[in-house]
Amino acid sequence: MSSKTFEDLIKEVHERGICQECGGCVSFCSSAEYDVIGFKDAYKPPVYINKDKCLECGICYYICPQTHILDNELNKTYQFSDFSLMPIGHYDNIFSCQATDPEFLKYGTDGGVVNSIINYLIENKLVDGAIVSKTDAPFSKEATFADSKYDLLKASGAKLDITPQLDEIQKFCTYTHSIPELNHYKFKKLAVVGTPCQLYTIRCMQDLGVTPSENVEICLGLFCYENFFFEKFQVSKFEKDFNIKFSDIIKINIKEDVIFKLKTEVPPEKVIHIPFNQLKSYMRPACNACNDFTNIYADISFGGLGSQEKYTTVITRTKKGKEIFSKAVDAEVITCKNLDQDKKSKMVELISQYSISKLARKEKFMKNLT
Ligand SMILES: Cc1cc2nc3c(=O)[nH]c(=O)nc-3n(C[C@H](O)[C@H](O)[C@H](O)COP(=O)(O)OP(=O)(O)OC[C@H]3O[C@@H](n4cnc5c(N)ncnc54)[C@H](O)[C@@H]3O)c2cc1C
Ligand code: SF4
Ligand code: SF4
Ligand code: SF4
Repeated sequence: MSSKTFEDLIKEVHERGICQECGGCVSFCSSAEYDVIGFKDAYKPPVYINKDKCLECGICYYICPQTHILDNELNKTYQFSDFSLMPIGHYDNIFSCQATDPEFLKYGTDGGVVNSIINYLIENKLVDGAIVSKTDAPFSKEATFADSKYDLLKASGAKLDITPQLDEIQKFCTYTHSIPELNHYKFKKLAVVGTPCQLYTIRCMQDLGVTPSENVEICLGLFCYENFFFEKFQVSKFEKDFNIKFSDIIKINIKEDVIFKLKTEVPPEKVIHIPFNQLKSYMRPACNACNDFTNIYADISFGGLGSQEKYTTVITRTKKGKEIFSKAVDAEVITCKNLDQDKKSKMVELISQYSISKLARKEKFMKNLT
């Protein structure tokens, strides 16, 4: 297929500091059963483990979000042309929605819409389950499989029971290694929730028709301006910089900036907004090299930006995404705000500004890269 191999990914992606650690190359390696490549450290790019078993097929190179080999094919499938022409990607419609189930709403990151839709898909046997992410502590997430409302609520972003785990955690990261989880559920029909870099690699595999990407029934994409990473020794600096005690954090939400909800002795909880540019030293470096904010290849994209508190902005994109969204609305699993065209245009404009800003950040970063 290609004269390029994982060796080239090391040179062109890892050594340039732009590996997004999405895990696509590891999960979809043609020789994955022999552990040719893998993560030795979850917070560093993957490495060769059994190099002699490498088939030199080039799949890993093709599907890496940082080589952009399949961009043209994906753009054709998902009707995308260029960020300057369509900053939020091709879309069918935009909404502001909320879960009707009080628990999904209460524990949801924004309007609890993503988990409500997944729960609808599971209950109606449209999928067997979903790869989601549970929050173990502030800035600490882990991929997990959910096939019930109980699992989804357990993985819900707002439920931080942090104190016992804090001492055990050495590295803090808001990024989740969701893609490698796919290999554990090879015979299941799955919904996957992911950031743009994660869904990109799934879409490449679907384009190439490589197992187990056919199991992914629906891609639910989150907006993503950036993710954060820091080591334990940096926690005290973070606490000092922002006057936030880690053990007081009950919720982190990434929206127009990063929003911290902190417990207080007397309610209500304290809310602190920190702009992205003040968090630069905690940002995952490879996020600088990423251009997609709204998850342009997802079936449906979700974010907080553009909607009021406790509502989720929903962008329907593909035919499948549109159908599933309509079914969830008809089943009254979620409700949509009644927005006129002017309000929708304003939402698109705001989200476009973030998309353009992310693109500009990438262009600046890449110019300085050797
Ligand atoms: C790392 C990250 C960065 C984001 N950045 C932005 C941003 O810049 N601007 C913006 O408007 N919105 C951003 N979002 C999206 C936003 O925070 C909400 O996830 C989205 O609005 C959906 O809210 P909800 O209440 O409908 O979802 P919920 O019903 O609460 O469901 C959220 C789902 O996402 C899953 N999940 C949580 N974290 C991850 C993760 N790291 N990887 C994969 N799945 C995960 C959960 O398990 C759950 O299934 C980001 C989300 C994440 C996780
Ligand atoms: S076997 Fe193919 S996919 Fe796996 S590391 Fe080698 S070149 Fe990459
Ligand atoms: S596929 Fe993902 S993990 Fe692998 S090299 Fe590319 S960005 Fe890194
Ligand atoms: S900004 Fe988000 S989508 Fe881009 S590399 Fe970072 S985590 Fe992935």
